[in-house]
Amino acid sequence: MNEILNTVYPFEVDGNCFLFTPDTVSIYKVSRSTYEAAKQGDVKGIPSGGKDTANNDEGERGEMLKEIYIQVIHDCNLDCKYCYAGGGNFGGNPAKMDIATVEKAVDFFVSNLDPTVIGDLGFDGGEPFLNWDVIEHATAYAKNKAGQLKKKLFFHIGANGTLFNDRTNAFITGNHISLGVSIDGDKEAHDRNRQTRNHLGSYDTVVRNVKSILAVSDNVNLQGRVTITKTNLKCLDIVKHLLEIGFRHIYLEPVSGTVEPWIMSREDLDIIKNEFTQLAQFYTGALLKGQFFILRNFYIFLKRLHMKKRVHYRCGVGRSGPAITPMGDIFPCYKFSGLPQYRLGNVHNVHNVHGKPIDTEIQRQFIENQVDRRPGCRDCWARYLCGGGCAYLSLCKKNDIAVNDEQDCELSLHTAKLSLQIYAAVKMKNPKLWDAFFRQGIAEPS
Ligand code: SF4
Ligand code: SF4
Repeated sequence: MNEILNTVYPFEVDGNCFLFTPDTVSIYKVSRSTYEAAKQGDVKGIPSGGKDTANNDEGERGEMLKEIYIQVIHDCNLDCKYCYAGGGNFGGNPAKMDIATVEKAVDFFVSNLDPTVIGDLGFDGGEPFLNWDVIEHATAYAKNKAGQLKKKLFFHIGANGTLFNDRTNAFITGNHISLGVSIDGDKEAHDRNRQTRNHLGSYDTVVRNVKSILAVSDNVNLQGRVTITKTNLKCLDIVKHLLEIGFRHIYLEPVSGTVEPWIMSREDLDIIKNEFTQLAQFYTGALLKGQFFILRNFYIFLKRLHMKKRVHYRCGVGRSGPAITPMGDIFPCYKFSGLPQYRLGNVHNVHNVHGKPIDTEIQRQFIENQVDRRPGCRDCWARYLCGGGCAYLSLCKKNDIAVNDEQDCELSLHTAKLSLQIYAAVKMKNPKLWDAFFRQGIAEPS
């Protein structure tokens, strides 16, 4: 069966039959007899596509950057119970990035930025609003630098949502910065884990702040970032709640903890999968009613389907999307920051990537971690939609960046399958809707 799924993946929507061809990232509506033949493994006459026929192929470029996470501070005003950054400092001492380091980080990014993309420059932490002056300075500096090198940038900030004020609201809306806010659903769910150091819930402050920035501009690209835990599994209710608050861009991520109480059980995963199935139906209905919003868990797959874009990696880890710590150290991605064995270099002594400034031995491990080379992924029908498992989760749970965490994979596969169904269902009822949806100019998630 693996061999067949490698070539075509048959699926049904409302009694209609479809085939998905992994190599071309394409969906074909077919007769029931063709569908049944594909299910039996008879793929003669079925469009399988050749290796080079996808519209868009991400390729294997490891040298150029596309995004960066500048951790302007390793400290936080909250004390969230599940924080992967150990309260914001990644297990080290609290630290703030200075102006000289942020300029070096921007230089590193912009000079090595792939000129064919709009570079995604993110400010992260800890809680980045605790070092606001550096964010303002770096934004102006980066715009100027990008202008000189004729490159394009898009900015985002990932925040806990407790520290907005008139100045930050005006700066974010005035500079069209995308703002990610951590919020776990309703007050009860959010306050259970996202607390101040005095153990007070932060929900009321976050919602008041979100409304304050929406009052400045309802056009601001506000992303609600939800952490799913075993006590917070009602994904559909969470999404409806965030839409009511005013978020038009939502992402749900299961907690990545490896110790109790954050370990997800088999039962928890089944509940999440069932919730995602309900979410897919809700999203399909909303899109067909013209209620456009980004549910990023599906959106990234839907966009790849729409563009027939084949990806070879889950993300830019170790290749195109590094993180920079407050001291200027370069790490493969924002979650690797606390792992000294993965330190790639420092922005104070790099010139450019082509001059081999960073640890190319570590980088090579990530370049080689292509989906076709991951043992658990290379025969998967969803490989070019998914790009493979999360290297950080693989490392935490399997001690190897190339070995899939089974839960991460199972949820990715389920989400990919639901995305095929959403795409086909919408296309059948309104063939032009996807063009309109992807044309609407919502700032792109990376
Ligand atoms: S992580 Fe799982 S779903 Fe993704 S490509 Fe690998 S096997 Fe497929
Ligand atoms: S390795 Fe995992 S945590 Fe890091 S950017 Fe990729 S998907 Fe995210």
